[in-house]
Amino acid sequence: MGEGQMRALVIGGGVIGSAIAWRLSRAGVRTQVYDRGQLGEESSWAAAGLLGPQAEADGPGKLLNLCIDGMNAFNAIYRLLLEESRVNPEYDRAGLVYVALDAKERAELEARLKWQREAGLKLEELSGAQARELVPALSPDVIYALHFAGEGFIDNRKLTEAYIQAALRAGAGFYPCSAVDEVLERGGRVAGVRMSDGTIKEADVVVNAAGSWASRIKGCAADGISIRPVRGQILCFDAPVGTLRHAILSPRGYIVPRRSGRLLAGTTREEAGYDKSVTLGGVAGIAHGVHALVPALGSVPLRQVWSGLRPAAPDYMPVIGPSPTLPGLYYATGHYRNGILLAALTAEVIAELVAGGTPALDLTAVLPARFSSNGTEQ
Ligand SMILES: Cc1cc2nc3c(=O)[nH]c(=O)nc-3n(C[C@H](O)[C@H](O)[C@H](O)COP(=O)(O)OP(=O)(O)OC[C@H]3O[C@@H](n4cnc5c(N)ncnc54)[C@H](O)[C@@H]3O)c2cc1C
Repeated sequence: MGEGQMRALVIGGGVIGSAIAWRLSRAGVRTQVYDRGQLGEESSWAAAGLLGPQAEADGPGKLLNLCIDGMNAFNAIYRLLLEESRVNPEYDRAGLVYVALDAKERAELEARLKWQREAGLKLEELSGAQARELVPALSPDVIYALHFAGEGFIDNRKLTEAYIQAALRAGAGFYPCSAVDEVLERGGRVAGVRMSDGTIKEADVVVNAAGSWASRIKGCAADGISIRPVRGQILCFDAPVGTLRHAILSPRGYIVPRRSGRLLAGTTREEAGYDKSVTLGGVAGIAHGVHALVPALGSVPLRQVWSGLRPAAPDYMPVIGPSPTLPGLYYATGHYRNGILLAALTAEVIAELVAGGTPALDLTAVLPARFSSNGTEQ
C-alpha cells in the first residue's frame, strides 16, 4: 500500500491530536480526527502555555532532555505553522523569570542554577533589583531571580487552533461531538474504530491521542497503559495591556501574560478524578501566591477561573509510539504538564513512525511498551 492511500484515524482533537493530524496530512496520509466534545476544549484549552524546559525542570534527566528536544522541534516548525495555518498563536520568547521571595526559595533557585550550569545549560542570575528592572511589576520583596533567555510562552488555545487550521488546509478532516468507543482489530492488526453510536470507521492506522481519557478506550487494555487526570486550576485577570510582558515563575505559582492584557495565574496539582470543579482551596492558594509576586494584582479584576485535566502516566513521562500488541495502533498521550511544549515533537515522531521510518529521537523513555508485562513500570 502506498503512503498516498494510507488512512489514519486520530482519537482526540486536543493540541496533540491536531498537531499529529497536520504532520500526517502533510506527509500525504488521509487523516481524520474524532473528538467526543468540541476540538481543543479540554487540557489544551485550560493550560497556561509556558514553554520553559529549563525553567520548569525539577532536575536533570530524561524529561528535561525530552523537553529541550521538544522546544527545538517547536522552534524548527513555528514559521511553517504560521504560514500554513494563517493563525498567530502569539509566541513570545522574551525569556522566563523565576523569582525567590525568601531565603529558602533563594536556596532552591541557587541549587537549580548549580545543576543546570553543571549540565552545560545557559541561564542567568539576577539580583532583586535587576529582576525588577526587567519586570517592574514585581514585588519589592523579590530578593533573587533566574532568567531563562530564549524560553517563553504562547497562547495555547490559538496554538491548538493553528494546528487544526494547518491540518485542515493540508486535507485532514475534523469531527467534533464524535466519541470513539473501541479500537478494532482484524487479522492481527488495527482495522479502525467503533464509534459510541455503533458506526464503524475503517483505518490503516489509529492514533490514540485522547489525553486523560486514553486508557478508557476499549481495545487498548492489553497494552497496560494507565493514564489518569491530574487537575490544575487557573485564575484569569483582566489587567491593562503591558502590566506584565514576561512570564514569572516561582515556588508559589506562576503568572503568564497574554497580548490582550489578560494574565493567567496558576496552578494546582490535584488528584480529583475527572472532576473539573474549581475549589476555594485551589483559588485561595493561587491568589495568595500571585499577590505576593505582583502586589498590583490585588486591584485588578478577576475575570474567570477554570480547571483542566493533565494526562499523566504512572512515571509522568509521555507515552509516544506503537502499541506493543496491536500493529497499526499508536499512542500519543500522557504529556502531563508539557503537552503544549511537546506537541510539535510528538507529531513529528508519530508521522515518522507511521511512514515506517526510524525517528532520530531516542524513544526508549516514552515507548508504550514500557508498561507491558515484561516492562519495568508495572
Ligand atoms: C492548568 C494547566 C496548565 C498547564 N500548563 C501547561 C504549560 O504551561 N505548558 C505545557 O506545555 N503544558 C501545560 N499543560 C499541559 C497540557 O495542557 C497538556 O499536556 C496537553 O494539553 C495535552 O494535550 P492532549 O491533546 O493530549 O489532551 P487534551 O487537550 O485533553 O485533548 C484530548 C482530547 O481527546 C478527546 N477525547 C477523549 N476521549 C475521547 C473519545 N473516546 N473519543 C474521541 N475523543 C476523545 C477529548 O474530548 C479531548 O478534546 C497544562 C495543563 C493544565 C491543566
